[in-house]
Amino acid sequence: MNTVMLGCAEEDLIAAAKLIVSGEVVGFPTETVYGLGANAYDEAAVKKIFAAKGRPADNPLIVHICGLDMISGLAKDIPPLAYKLAERFWPGPLTMILPKSDKVPLVTSGGLDTVGIRFPSHPAARRLIELCGLPIAAPSANLSGSPSPTTSRRVYEDMNGRIPAIIDGGESAVGVESTVISLENGGVRILRPGGITKEMLQEICPVSIDDGVLKELGSGAVARSPGMKYKHYAPKADVKIVKGGLSKYREYVLDHAQSGDFCLLFSEKEAVEGVPFVLCGEDSAAQAHKLFEALRLLDERGAKTVFARCPETGGVGLAVYNRLLRAAGFCVVDLEG
Ligand code: AMP
Ligand code: MG
Repeated sequence: MNTVMLGCAEEDLIAAAKLIVSGEVVGFPTETVYGLGANAYDEAAVKKIFAAKGRPADNPLIVHICGLDMISGLAKDIPPLAYKLAERFWPGPLTMILPKSDKVPLVTSGGLDTVGIRFPSHPAARRLIELCGLPIAAPSANLSGSPSPTTSRRVYEDMNGRIPAIIDGGESAVGVESTVISLENGGVRILRPGGITKEMLQEICPVSIDDGVLKELGSGAVARSPGMKYKHYAPKADVKIVKGGLSKYREYVLDHAQSGDFCLLFSEKEAVEGVPFVLCGEDSAAQAHKLFEALRLLDERGAKTVFARCPETGGVGLAVYNRLLRAAGFCVVDLEG
C-alpha cells in the first residue's frame, strides 16, 4: 500500500474524511500525540487499526468526537459530573471512561462494556471528525510498544505501507497522550496522567490516582487502564531513571557509563563529561512535549543504556514520570534513599 502525506488544507481533510468514511485508517494530528483514526462504529475498519499497529485486541481505543451531541450515540447513563468536566476541559487532552452504548462494537472498546471518549482541540482533528460526521476511534499512531509519535515524520516511519494516508499538522503541542479518567462517587480516578493534571481536575471534584500510574501491576492484577499493563513507550535502549541531585547523578553516570551509553537531560548544563546526551526540556511542559521524540532520537543514535534524570512529578510532570517509568521498565536507581 502506498502511504500519501496530506496537509491540513480543506481539500486534504476532505480526502482524508472520504477514506475514513469508506472504512480506511488515516494518521492524523492531535494536540496530545498523532492518532490512527477509523470510523468508531465500523468493526472492520477498527480491526484495520489493530492490524496496522500490531496492537493486542484487549487494549481499547479512545473515541474522538467534535461536539457533545456525539456522546449520546456512544455512551449511556452519563453522570452530570461528565458534563461538568466536559464544559471545563473539552476540547482538550482529557478522556472520560463512560458506560458504552450498544452501537459501539466490542472491538473498539477492547471487549470492555465502557468506552473512552475525548474531544480533541487540534483544529485539523476537529475538522476531520466534522467532515466525517462520525466519531473516530484512534489510538496513538505508533507500532504497538514504541514511543507515541508527535510528528507526521515519526508516524510515517512506523506506518509507511500500512495505511493509505497521514495528515501532517505539525508537532503535537502537549506531547504525551491524554489524561484518562473514570468517574466514581462524585469524583474521578486518574488511570493515566496527561495534559489535564490532577491539580486542574481538583478544581472541579475530588481526585484519586490509580495504583497503576506509578506502580508496576503484579501479574494477577487487573489493569483499569489496559494500555498501562503493556511494555509501552519503550525505546530499544535500556533506560534507567537516576534519582538524586546533579552531583550524585554525575558521579553515578561517570562510574557506570560505557561506550554507547547516553544521558537524558533536562538542560545541557547537566552534561556529564565524556558521555553524549539527548535533551528533554527544562520544565514539565517542555519535558512532556519532547519526551517521546527524545526516546526515538536515542534509538536512532544507537543508545545502549540511557541514564535519565528523574523528572518532577507535579502538574504534567506526573505524566512525564509515568511514561518514563514505563520506558525504563520501572528501573529507578535511587541515590537519595
Ligand atoms: P492510546 O490511544 O494508544 O494511548 O490508547 C488508549 C488507552 O486509553 C488504552 O491503552 C487504555 O489504557 C485507555 N482506555 C481507552 N478506553 C478505555 C476504557 N474503556 N477503559 C479503560 N481504559 C481505556
Ligand atoms: Mg498508545
